[in-house]
Amino acid sequence: MTEHEIKIAFKEYDSLEELTPTDKNLCAEAEKALATSHSPYSKFRVGVALQLQSGKILYGSNQENVAYPSGLCAERVALFNWGANHLNDPIVSMAVTAHTDDFELLKPVTSCGACLQVMAECEKMQNSPLRMLLYCINGPVWEINGIQSLMPFMFSEERLVQLPL
Ligand SMILES: [Zn+2]
Repeated sequence: MTEHEIKIAFKEYDSLEELTPTDKNLCAEAEKALATSHSPYSKFRVGVALQLQSGKILYGSNQENVAYPSGLCAERVALFNWGANHLNDPIVSMAVTAHTDDFELLKPVTSCGACLQVMAECEKMQNSPLRMLLYCINGPVWEINGIQSLMPFMFSEERLVQLPL
């Protein structure tokens, strides 16, 4: 038996004020995306902004549906838009934030496993890590370089073994 331990590395900033102007701006763009959230059921708005290499910014917000499983997270709304329309313009950074009137968010919102899996695929498609800025509006910011840090056991076909035909 071999015991393994995996450590993850990320940076924490006390507030948006500590970020570079570029990152601060991207977070402000993610906040703008909150306004387009369709979340009448959870009342939990999530906003995403993707900074592309060209400088273009793509937005995403959570889109709910009365048939609950039909909705989609903000991250995947933005990432699928990128995949469908901007595949040749790599994603440099992704800012994610959230807001609800029901309670105060004291820690950054983190993405669900399904979104992390999609981010991992996007990293593979563009052959470079996806840098994430996770934050709550009046709290700390977490910077994570690459999805591997958040989901080390992500599903990957590289671990599958091809059987002889
Ligand atoms: Zn998600």
